Amino acid sequence: MNKIKVFAPATVANVACGFDIMGFALEGVGDVIVVEKTTDNKLTIAEITGTTGIPTDPEKNVSSVAIQAMLDKLGSDQGFSISIEKKVKPGSGLGSSASSSAGAVVAANHLLGNPFKKEELVEFAMEGERAASEKPHADNVAPSIIGGFTVVRGYEPLDVFTIGYPEDLYAAVIFPEVEVKTADAKKILKSQVNLSDAITQWGNVAGLTAGMITKDYDLIKRSMKDVIVEPVRSILIPCYDQVKAAALENDALGCNISGSGPSIFALARGREAADKIADAMGVEFTKADIAFDKYVSPINGKGTEIID
Ligand code: ADP
Repeated sequence: MNKIKVFAPATVANVACGFDIMGFALEGVGDVIVVEKTTDNKLTIAEITGTTGIPTDPEKNVSSVAIQAMLDKLGSDQGFSISIEKKVKPGSGLGSSASSSAGAVVAANHLLGNPFKKEELVEFAMEGERAASEKPHADNVAPSIIGGFTVVRGYEPLDVFTIGYPEDLYAAVIFPEVEVKTADAKKILKSQVNLSDAITQWGNVAGLTAGMITKDYDLIKRSMKDVIVEPVRSILIPCYDQVKAAALENDALGCNISGSGPSIFALARGREAADKIADAMGVEFTKADIAFDKYVSPINGKGTEIID
């Protein structure tokens, strides 16, 4: 096989109290990546469609950077040509760069005869994240590659695992057309946390994890709270409080910032509930005259998939 097409899902990271550690994959929204073997020992970005402003320089594009990390580990100089169809804009807070890194490494791994397991590809895709944001995060690339609801326990060494979740858990995601600069979202974070907030947060992390695994909706609802990051970051997103209130009034289990924003996500029991929540969230942005995209999706348990 010389050519392959994959779908790499968009992801929600920073799930409520699980800042920097929890993420999940979405269905139907993500990147479509075509990778083809070449004979010139080079990595080339052949085409990018669906958005503008993404680097075509293979040393800057996250797809080629991630594949290069994999080739370095293998000691291979195999050439690949990469085409990227972007369905989520960069800077959405839905892991746009992560989808490109994830899709590229899964595709190239397959063309090389699968020398690595999916879990082992996470560290290569993280090198793509380093190219996009200086820090090699795993919280978007892990769910995009592996699928499901993932936890990054630590980095030294990398320790990523998936946890169970209720089958009828749905996400309502709304992406307003406003810019939140990742640098601003980072700068605004406090470098210290007070002990009572930390205690509340890790109680909620334990509750959310246990609620997911035991499919206890009430425990999920009680635990989907973030007392550390949301209070400072949400001020960067216009209408955040109104959108969150609308989600909760419509029976969302919880509602928080996706990634570093501006996307906002809510979790719900069943598609019908999630549709209603997404509509209610949209009404608030419409009132403020802010255009938006919205997505309703179950948790995508498959991660990056070969589609051709
Ligand atoms: P998101 O906020 O949706 O997670 P990121 O902030 O992670 O998006 O990624 C956007 C940054 O990554 C931009 O600076 C963009 O130019 C860079 N980038 C490099 N290659 C890609 C790619 N293939 N897809 C998306 N972004 C890329």
